[in-house]
Amino acid sequence: MTQGTNPFESLQSQIDDAAAYLDVEDDVIERLKHPERVLETNLTVEMDDGSLERFKAFRSQFNGDRGPYKGGIRYHPQVSRDEVKALSGWMTYKTATVDIPLGGGKGGIIIDPAEYSESELERITRAFAKELRPLIGEDRDVPAPDVNTGQREMNWIKDTYETLENTTEPGVITGKNLASGGSEGRVEATGRSTVIAAREAFDYLDKDLEGATVAVQGYGNAGWIAAKLIDEMGATVVAASDSSGGIYNPDGFDPVAAKNHKNETGSVVGYEESEEEITNEDVLTMDVDLLIPAALENAIDADLAEDVQADVISEAANGPLTPDADAVLEDKDVFVIPDILANAGGVTVSYFEWVQNRQRFYWSEERVNEELEDHIVDAFDSLVETIEEHDIANPRTATYVVAIQRVADSFEEAGSFP
Ligand code: NAD
Repeated sequence: MTQGTNPFESLQSQIDDAAAYLDVEDDVIERLKHPERVLETNLTVEMDDGSLERFKAFRSQFNGDRGPYKGGIRYHPQVSRDEVKALSGWMTYKTATVDIPLGGGKGGIIIDPAEYSESELERITRAFAKELRPLIGEDRDVPAPDVNTGQREMNWIKDTYETLENTTEPGVITGKNLASGGSEGRVEATGRSTVIAAREAFDYLDKDLEGATVAVQGYGNAGWIAAKLIDEMGATVVAASDSSGGIYNPDGFDPVAAKNHKNETGSVVGYEESEEEITNEDVLTMDVDLLIPAALENAIDADLAEDVQADVISEAANGPLTPDADAVLEDKDVFVIPDILANAGGVTVSYFEWVQNRQRFYWSEERVNEELEDHIVDAFDSLVETIEEHDIANPRTATYVVAIQRVADSFEEAGSFP
């Protein structure tokens, strides 16, 4: 990650870029650049050895004009107040991009979860859930997983909330496992939307996906599923990386076998089908048709962007390009499908999960995937219409134009209170 780029400033500059094309009052735009509120809390939790440890945690509720705040909870040593604020803003414009009736929120704990036992993580998560309890609820704020959190943590949060509230409310959180009210298709959803969006972009650009080469940076939930699904669509995954380094085979490799290797050893590095071990930077600058950044934000800065050779980038990660990198790639005519569209599958299926929880009626995986396909294709069509209507060169700017207009319409129609 590039140090020194403030993700909240990145978000605000993306909003400014889009606002230039919009007929929305400046004071409304200003409102749409800041979170409504941010919880900052210190969790004091007993460790296995009986000592107490303090963890700083945040929840940012960015905008609720279109529905309950929605967004994940991240466990990472680099979580910060500004990072959480930025991520909650991106969630606001993401839910608007795919036109689902939810707002934007995000949370995080400053922690390296690898340093704690499962029982410590459970107490830390339940302590955070206790702090979140007055703020969340299926009609208020609905958290979800993010980096280093998953079904296990979501189930703990749901259980804590339901116990304290003396209720059954599975829609208070999404990303749960199936037995706790999760949705079919949720685990694959982010990788799935990343590749549906890439497929639509290739189609729009008259490029052939069959045989196209792909590099994937970050081989976690979003990255490895994207690799598997793009391979199933006929593309060839030639490179992948995780925090320990990268692998490369010019003839392509089996994404599932690479994932199995990572499951067994902790990293893709050392995977036998790899002809060469490469750096994370090599993966980002490789001569491929499609690059999928699926690790953390600010992976590509302006200097690195000069060396990027991919024709299309589908952003599985949130904010993987700095604004300066975005400008460089626009000059190089790289078609960048922005995070708020490319990775919106996660929140879209979270929305389906929430709908199913409220209806107490559960869908098949096939139905989930079909509904997801419709939302992502519609979002891509709106992007193309906006690019053509306003003659906008940068697909990210066009996506923000669509999304900001939707949030602003909702705010302006409702008016403000008091
Ligand atoms: P994850 O923890 O499952 O995976 C992250 C991966 O990135 C890991 O393989 C890790 O080793 C790798 N990584 C970390 N630092 C790296 C580096 N410097 N170079 C290369 N690889 C590195 O997390 P995830 O859920 O896959 O999320 C990844 C990104 O996708 C995040 O930006 C997240 O916000 C975004 N995202 C995820 C979802 C979801 O549903 N999981 C939804 C929307 C957006």
